[in-house]
Amino acid sequence: RESQIEEIRATIETKNVELLHMQFVDIEGTLKHVTVTSEQLDQVVNGQVMFDGSSITGFTPINQSDLYLTPDLNTFAVLPWTEEDGYSEARFLCSVKKPDGSDFLGDPRNVLKETVKRAEEKGYSINVGPELEFFLFETDEEGQPTLKTQDVGGYFEPSPKDNGEKVRLAIYKALKKMGFTIEASHHEVAIGQHEINFKYADALGAADAATTYKWVVKTVAGQYGLHATFMPKPLAGANGSGMHTNISLFDTEKQENAFFDDADELGLSETAYQFIAGLIDNVKDFVAVTNPLVNSYKRLVPGYEAPCYIAWSASNRSALIRIPATRGAGTRVEIRCPDPSANPYFAFAVVASAGLDGVERELTAPPAINDDIFSMSRQECFERGIQNLPTNLESALDHFESGKIGRNTLGEHAYTEYVELKRGEWDDFRTTVSDWEVAAYQAKF
Ligand code: GLN
Ligand code: MG
Ligand code: MG
Ligand code: MG
Repeated sequence: RESQIEEIRATIETKNVELLHMQFVDIEGTLKHVTVTSEQLDQVVNGQVMFDGSSITGFTPINQSDLYLTPDLNTFAVLPWTEEDGYSEARFLCSVKKPDGSDFLGDPRNVLKETVKRAEEKGYSINVGPELEFFLFETDEEGQPTLKTQDVGGYFEPSPKDNGEKVRLAIYKALKKMGFTIEASHHEVAIGQHEINFKYADALGAADAATTYKWVVKTVAGQYGLHATFMPKPLAGANGSGMHTNISLFDTEKQENAFFDDADELGLSETAYQFIAGLIDNVKDFVAVTNPLVNSYKRLVPGYEAPCYIAWSASNRSALIRIPATRGAGTRVEIRCPDPSANPYFAFAVVASAGLDGVERELTAPPAINDDIFSMSRQECFERGIQNLPTNLESALDHFESGKIGRNTLGEHAYTEYVELKRGEWDDFRTTVSDWEVAAYQAKF
């Protein structure tokens, strides 16, 4: 730790880092930061930076509002877009502590750490590789986002006139400088839609990376006058944006991927099948976390490569769970329902807990569905026992509150705050009279 601090001190010196942003997320996963000067590094690493928790969504009441930030030294990064001659800024992602020095369990980062701990007690570490899709939209004269895209060509067209390509390259460069290992970068199916893939990490590292990625994408796009959005379904009739979550367990005793078994027909271990079964058994109860917005459920409809039925398959992209072809150390399951508006700390925590629940209860996975589920009739789905994911936020919240994964994983504080916030959001939506209703009903009735 001391040598790590010395390294940071040296970087501050050579890169002329003047400001340090102390970052954390609220219960929606929204990034917050308080900025201090680099002269305060000693106080920073000693966890002495304080803030008012009562002003953060889902944190503390006003009468117990003092909270402290403990930086995770591994997350130190100089911000490439701030670098000028003789000046730069850096950031730390932080965990939140109470004045008595204990972890504040309303902090999503701490919530995920609890899940990681529980997995460790069972002999596993959790690896996660998220894929976050996003749209780039033009802004208007006032700088407000529009729904117009920069795409001049068709899908996948690397048109030199397309600003989207240029911005994606700039985002790639910024992420790389901040320490990301980028594996792929491509235009997605919808107009204006993109995806940049980074290397998997342990669950906490992956949630930190997803949080950083969203911030960098928005920041860099903004420098080009574009608005990047992780809203799940900005355009009706086009693909929405997902956050496919690749996840695997690593057996810490045997030092090997716990999902791989050469002897099995599909190359999957008993543990993998149980994990899949756990996801399938619990998914309805956790989508309120992985798909947190009213708008999330407009993505989960047939025909747009997003899942709406609860099934798994080795290859099928219409299924909720797909097993990417890689075997050996890279064996993993991909759960395709999460979207990038989710709080990544909570999302990876509930997905891991759901899978581990299947391992613990030694559940049996239902048969794989290798046919295109989008083209099946309701009757056929019913006959084959394929159930629907919740189709709106209210139904998702009903499952969330009657199930056990949400409460057990988020813990009492975060769970209660989350339910209250999301119920409020749903009430706001259901009491709003939409343009669709007026257009469909006003003239006719
Ligand atoms: N955009 C699709 C979704 O909503 C995924 C498309 C893809 O990556 N193949 O999940
Ligand atoms: Mg992808
Ligand atoms: Mg994709
Ligand atoms: Mg994918």
